[in-house]
Amino acid sequence: MKLYHDEDADLDLIRHKAIAVIGYGNQGRAQALNLRDSGLNVIVGNRADDYAARAKADRFAVHPIATAVSLADVVMLLIPDEVMPAVYAEQVAPRLRQKAVLVFASGYTVAFEQIALPPAIDAVLVAPRMIGAGVRESYVAGRGFPAFIGVAQDYSGQARAYALALAKAIGATRAGVAEVTFAQEAELDLFTEQCFGPAFGSVLMTSVNLLLDEGYPPEAVLLELYMSGEFAYTLGKIAELGTVEQTALHSTTSQYGSMSRGLRFQIPALRDKLREGLDEIRSGAFAREWAEEQSDGAPTLAMLREAAREMPLYALETELRQALGSQRTDAAIEPLGPPPQVAARATTERRRLIGKLRTWLGRVGWREAEERPTPQPAVPHPASTPADPPAADPIADAAPLDLAALERVLNAFLTDAAVAPALRAFARDRDITTAYRLTDRPLVFHLRFAHGDVTGGMGDPPTPAQVALKMSAATLDGMLSGSLNPTRATLAGDITFEGEARTALTIQRVQKELIRLYAAARTRVLEGT
Ligand code: NDP
Repeated sequence: MKLYHDEDADLDLIRHKAIAVIGYGNQGRAQALNLRDSGLNVIVGNRADDYAARAKADRFAVHPIATAVSLADVVMLLIPDEVMPAVYAEQVAPRLRQKAVLVFASGYTVAFEQIALPPAIDAVLVAPRMIGAGVRESYVAGRGFPAFIGVAQDYSGQARAYALALAKAIGATRAGVAEVTFAQEAELDLFTEQCFGPAFGSVLMTSVNLLLDEGYPPEAVLLELYMSGEFAYTLGKIAELGTVEQTALHSTTSQYGSMSRGLRFQIPALRDKLREGLDEIRSGAFAREWAEEQSDGAPTLAMLREAAREMPLYALETELRQALGSQRTDAAIEPLGPPPQVAARATTERRRLIGKLRTWLGRVGWREAEERPTPQPAVPHPASTPADPPAADPIADAAPLDLAALERVLNAFLTDAAVAPALRAFARDRDITTAYRLTDRPLVFHLRFAHGDVTGGMGDPPTPAQVALKMSAATLDGMLSGSLNPTRATLAGDITFEGEARTALTIQRVQKELIRLYAAARTRVLEGT
């Protein structure tokens, strides 16, 4: 694959063109400043708000988006991919000049056919492999940063040359630019976000949980694994020197240990999971699901964010960062970050959140550790001493159920679920089968929501389950009793699931009803009423 550098690009091609940067956020501001510093003629298109004010403060002429598009030979769409289809249809497409060059920083909307390109334009990709702050900082430092370019439509016959010229003007060809298709860029980007990143995160969470269960002090675990910054530094060295060469920076004990033990982690199932994610991306299933989720107001995303923020790990990280007197990188990012009012709102929000988490952590203590049947950390987390004694929770405080009792409770629960109006309403337009498998007891049961009927029973489901959950008996009891948040437990590795992630999350919409029914069945069975 050829890598293009400065000498492959000709700035003269765009020197006398009017360039409209649409959006003045992360990429918009960085690229607009770099283009101007490369001697080009740049205007900005944005709504009249904080972002527009910042562009004006940076001495750009700012216009409404449609006006900026109508004035430009080159239109750089640097707004979030989520809003791009609507903004493009309403404000960009009707005002695009004939022979304009339309530039995307991500292949997503074109690759997943959310945008219809008019025939008489060039459509190109100039996609930095760098966040906005880095795009500007690298340019100012004279370093450059890698980027992908691509051509979706070549009306002028010079589309690739335009993409290269723009890549040079923002500083990318100083480092090196590779050509890919829009689809390849979008798919690789999503793969990193949805497969590589989460798989890596799962290894991290599993390691944190294992080490906490084994009694290592929480702060030491976090410092060792990632919070000291040593691991991030090593990743930087891997990028700089390569995976093999960087090993020379480590002791021979480390080299021998990591290379000899690394073989243990060649796990075929991991490749299967990564492929599953890639297939979902390539087929467009993810893009369709995400578009649908957004048109519903993104309730699943809100739920996932909430669950992630409620993770005890989040609160521990916050405290440890403060204890370490960590220097956040805000100072470096600030010149390119959101406008001051937006930044102030974000800081207030962060403070509010930390306050909320502190309260929560104080109330529940190091709840996740308490929920575990395995040994507790040898050194309790300081925040685990609650300011007030935890409120009595009859279910959480109850002795674990034996197998026979759990089966009786589940049978009663499944019988009640079959006639519960809220569950039947949920089942109306759906056909979802879930299987629950315990990891520490020989017990499987299933629940099906299909065409208005709710059916369930012990054993494997009669039809294949779209979602199969595995957990310990204590976790199941905690989840159905409402004392344990299933999304959080999944993120913490206490629940593993196979099948459709979104279906698993959809079931959470009736989680409260399932909890109500289970708690009632549990009380009834255990009290013999
Ligand atoms: P931002 O979230 O930083 O974009 C913010 C800008 O978009 C603001 O100017 C905002 O103005 C404008 N905007 C937001 N919503 C709307 C709307 N509904 N109508 C009109 N304008 C809107 O985006 P990024 O810079 O992160 O991303 C831009 C592009 O760059 C995307 O295609 C992304 O995939 C790509 N990219 C991003 C990278 C990154 O580092 N973030 C890295 C590589 C590529 P206002 O709210 O005032 O309207």
